[in-house]
Amino acid sequence: MDFDLFVIGGGSAGVRCARIAAGHGARVGVAEERFWGGTCVNVGCVPKKLLVQAGEYGGWADDAAGFGWEIHKGPHDWAKLIAAKDREIGRLSGIYRSLLDRAGTQVFETRARFLDAHTLDVGGKRLTAERIVIATGGHPVRFPVPGAELGIISDDAFYLPRMPKRVAVLGSGYIAVEFAGIFAALGAEVDLVFRQPLPLRGFDHDLRESLAEALIAQGIALHPSSLPQRIEADGERRRLIFAGDRTISTDLVFFATGRRPATAAMGLEAAGVATDAAGAVVVDEHLRSSQPHIFAIGDVTNRLNLTPVATAEGHALADSLFGGRPRRISLENVPTAVFSTPPVATVGLTEEQAALRGPVDVYVTRFTPMRHTLSGRARKSMMKLVVDQATQRVLGAHMLGEDAPEIMQGLAIALVMGATKADFDRTIGIHPTAAEEFVTLRTRTRVAGVAKAAE
Ligand SMILES: Cc1cc2nc3c(=O)[nH]c(=O)nc-3n(C[C@H](O)[C@H](O)[C@H](O)COP(=O)(O)OP(=O)(O)OC[C@H]3O[C@@H](n4cnc5c(N)ncnc54)[C@H](O)[C@@H]3O)c2cc1C
Repeated sequence: MDFDLFVIGGGSAGVRCARIAAGHGARVGVAEERFWGGTCVNVGCVPKKLLVQAGEYGGWADDAAGFGWEIHKGPHDWAKLIAAKDREIGRLSGIYRSLLDRAGTQVFETRARFLDAHTLDVGGKRLTAERIVIATGGHPVRFPVPGAELGIISDDAFYLPRMPKRVAVLGSGYIAVEFAGIFAALGAEVDLVFRQPLPLRGFDHDLRESLAEALIAQGIALHPSSLPQRIEADGERRRLIFAGDRTISTDLVFFATGRRPATAAMGLEAAGVATDAAGAVVVDEHLRSSQPHIFAIGDVTNRLNLTPVATAEGHALADSLFGGRPRRISLENVPTAVFSTPPVATVGLTEEQAALRGPVDVYVTRFTPMRHTLSGRARKSMMKLVVDQATQRVLGAHMLGEDAPEIMQGLAIALVMGATKADFDRTIGIHPTAAEEFVTLRTRTRVAGVAKAAE
């Protein structure tokens, strides 16, 4: 065999797995067809957050007047922002590549696919490996509607030659609401068009309601329970046509309507690797596919599509296979954030999920953050704890508001450790902060869920 381990895909999951395995002494090959660092570094988390931060400056410049500053805000230079972002992304992508070189892996800048269960075609070369890891991630998909090709996907949004004046974002998952916020903060008129009654399906209901209010306060026009029937070009402009001939005329249509695992044309059948209806590689708790020596990690398994999960899986798999330290990654209590404006962050169960298990005490607070008592900006924060009534364990923490992702990372440790409401209560707050609200929530807002019938 040419390699002990061959990793297909040089994204968050693949790079971590390859370099840790090489560090344990394995002979490792890794193929990447597009960009080292994958989605997160190039067209995901990192450039997205830089664009969110660009938008925040505009709001802060406006807020400053309430604090006595006289700031004259000039126009925003989109091309300058994108050039600066590209330099940073280039630097980071280079670091990912050099990490692999330094770890002693053999890198291939090309596409890889299976010829059989141990043999790969890597850019025209036949290579064999004892074990193979599929870490090919996923890609954005357009919701199927006539004229869909007239719209862009998130990969394109990072390379737009100029900022559109008006944007229609289709979808209401985290990428949709993040980009709606980015475009609005940079001065565009934004329409958010989505099928659900509220954005962020699957998140806590109070959080979804608070986010909808925040998006409206940011000036974004929400079109819930709406689906366009077709999209038409009108010269450079685009028209979304809805039932009853209602239309939205816009400069740019942005499909944030989901992602699909990247498993097409990879020869998975020839290798005996099973996929599910969505095209995701099916894995067991050890990240093993239906073929015992072939594994899959990260977004290609379509379970919890987040960078820290992908890297943790890559690391755990390399340690398990070559480091003599077999371990699994728990997908419970994984904290996550949505970089909307303001952001959302959450860990653990939603009230709706927790209530299915039994009675829960729910604590909710909504307030105007201190900064905005002077800035005059209509911005509210919402914080919430969901507590199991019987054990008093905190099952879920949810927040919409400035710094929510930074706050939630610390709370996640408490939830992972099994903290109770009493543990939160005996923790002294830091004053004056928004975060202290999480340890001073004394009045129960309501009880939810039903007592389980005796078994
Ligand atoms: C717009 C956007 C924003 C996001 N924001 C966040 C965020 O804020 N926080 C967060 O945690 N997550 C975020 N994510 C999700 C995050 O990017 C993914 O969870 C993460 O990148 C998954 O890593 P991965 O290694 O599994 O896949 P990827 O990073 O997609 O890497 C897969 C790599 O495999 C390569 N590849 C595919 N097929 C082949 C082949 N046959 N041969 C060779 N190479 C191949 C691809 O080119 C790619 O580089 C975001 C995603 C998007 C799209």
